[in-house]
Amino acid sequence: MLEILRQGLAAQGLDATKAETLEAFARAVLEKNKVMNLTAITEDADFARLHLLDSAALLTMADFGGKRVVDVGTGAGFPGVPLRILCPDARVTLLDSTGKRIDFLRETCDALGLTDVDCVHERAEAFAAQQRERFDCAVSRAVAGMSVLCELCLPLVKVGGQFLAMKSARSDEELEGAMDAIQTLGGRLADVVDYPIPTAGVTHRVMIIDKVERTPKQYPRQFGKIKKSPL
Ligand code: SAM
Repeated sequence: MLEILRQGLAAQGLDATKAETLEAFARAVLEKNKVMNLTAITEDADFARLHLLDSAALLTMADFGGKRVVDVGTGAGFPGVPLRILCPDARVTLLDSTGKRIDFLRETCDALGLTDVDCVHERAEAFAAQQRERFDCAVSRAVAGMSVLCELCLPLVKVGGQFLAMKSARSDEELEGAMDAIQTLGGRLADVVDYPIPTAGVTHRVMIIDKVERTPKQYPRQFGKIKKSPL
């Protein structure tokens, strides 16, 4: 795993000296995965590529240094933990509605010496009541369709900030269907970046949304409504 990480990070132009810490995080996830459902990807090389290098790719698209970043629906810590390992001065909040995953992340971040990471057990739509427009950046992977995801994430981002949604490269229709939601919530599509994951033979996509106006107060709605009638 270490060699795949070193080579992959170098190919991405990122700090390959962080490969050991990324591997230590992988070991913690895979160990806990024996007793808790964290990931279906359990083979070392796949884990390195499809979780760690995929998450790391975000750093090639935006500068997270010194920024407040929230990872919405972080699960086992993707992309938030690799992002924090590779960019130590990013102030990362890991947010998930599943308490056991957040407990695991709190323990693991402490064990890895990532002491300034906030691990928050909360639903994103409820978290917006406390932390509305407080983050420079929201990131999210594999949580919901783009319209729903925008309503969970954009209210957390301050005007001038960005939301980076990690998606499959076959997401043209999903994006098309979310354009109204993006605008209604104060966003503007800035870029769609298709990127190869080093040595994986797969291409993934990041949709980059600029927050250009404040999100109207009625959003986010309760999750039932968001799901029943996406914007
Ligand atoms: N982002 C991780 C990844 O890419 O491996 C985890 C993806 S997992 C499929 C989706 C995660 O989103 C779950 O851990 C779930 O608990 C969380 N989630 C779903 N809806 C949420 C919400 N409204 N607020 C916070 N977390 C949510």
